[in-house]
Amino acid sequence: MTTKASVEPLRKPRKCPECGRPSTREDYPFCSNRCRELDLSRWLTGSYAIPVAEDESKADGDEGEY
Ligand SMILES: [Zn+2]
Repeated sequence: MTTKASVEPLRKPRKCPECGRPSTREDYPFCSNRCRELDLSRWLTGSYAIPVAEDESKADGDEGEY
Protein backbone atom coordinates (compact mmCIF):
# COMPACT_ATOMS: atom_id res chain seq x y z
CA MET A 1 0.00 0.00 0.00
CA THR A 2 1.18 3.48 -0.61
CA THR A 3 1.61 5.80 2.28
CA LYS A 4 2.89 8.87 0.53
CA ALA A 5 -0.21 10.62 -0.59
CA SER A 6 0.38 13.90 1.19
CA VAL A 7 3.09 15.45 -0.92
CA GLU A 8 1.89 15.57 -4.43
CA PRO A 9 3.01 18.27 -6.79
CA LEU A 10 0.00 19.51 -8.64
CA ARG A 11 1.89 21.82 -10.86
CA LYS A 12 5.44 22.40 -11.73
CA PRO A 13 7.10 24.80 -9.36
CA ARG A 14 7.04 28.21 -10.87
CA LYS A 15 9.00 31.26 -10.01
CA CYS A 16 7.23 34.25 -8.66
CA PRO A 17 7.08 36.89 -11.39
CA GLU A 18 7.70 39.56 -8.79
CA CYS A 19 10.72 38.39 -6.90
CA GLY A 20 11.69 35.12 -8.53
CA ARG A 21 11.15 32.96 -5.51
CA PRO A 22 9.30 29.67 -5.80
CA SER A 23 5.58 30.16 -5.83
CA THR A 24 3.23 28.67 -3.32
CA ARG A 25 0.02 26.90 -4.04
CA GLU A 26 -2.04 29.46 -2.17
CA ASP A 27 -0.70 32.41 -4.03
CA TYR A 28 0.13 30.78 -7.30
CA PRO A 29 1.79 31.93 -9.41
CA PHE A 30 3.25 34.21 -6.79
CA CYS A 31 5.28 33.32 -3.75
CA SER A 32 3.20 35.29 -1.31
CA ASN A 33 0.16 37.43 -0.97
CA ARG A 34 2.42 40.44 -0.90
CA CYS A 35 3.79 39.76 -4.33
CA ARG A 36 0.34 39.05 -5.62
CA GLU A 37 -0.91 42.41 -4.44
CA LEU A 38 2.20 44.04 -5.76
CA ASP A 39 1.51 42.65 -9.15
CA LEU A 40 -2.11 43.63 -8.95
CA SER A 41 -1.35 47.17 -7.93
CA ARG A 42 1.05 47.42 -10.79
CA TRP A 43 -1.72 46.53 -13.13
CA LEU A 44 -3.97 49.11 -11.54
CA THR A 45 -1.44 51.88 -11.71
CA GLY A 46 -0.74 51.06 -15.29
CA SER A 47 2.93 50.36 -14.99
CA TYR A 48 2.43 47.46 -17.28
CA ALA A 49 2.02 49.74 -20.20
CA ILE A 50 4.42 49.40 -23.02
CA PRO A 51 7.76 50.74 -21.83
CA VAL A 52 8.80 53.86 -23.59
CA ALA A 53 12.23 53.95 -25.05
CA GLU A 54 13.83 56.71 -23.10
CA ASP A 55 16.68 57.29 -25.43
CA GLU A 56 14.31 57.94 -28.25
CA SER A 57 14.62 61.66 -27.75
CA LYS A 58 18.35 61.52 -27.52
CA ALA A 59 18.85 59.45 -30.60
CA ASP A 60 16.94 61.98 -32.54
CA GLY A 61 19.22 63.41 -35.10
CA ASP A 62 22.53 64.74 -33.98
CA GLU A 63 24.72 61.89 -33.11
CA GLY A 64 28.33 62.70 -32.62
CA GLU A 65 29.19 65.56 -30.37
CA TYR A 66 32.68 65.43 -31.56
ZN1 LIG B 1 7.40 36.90 -4.78
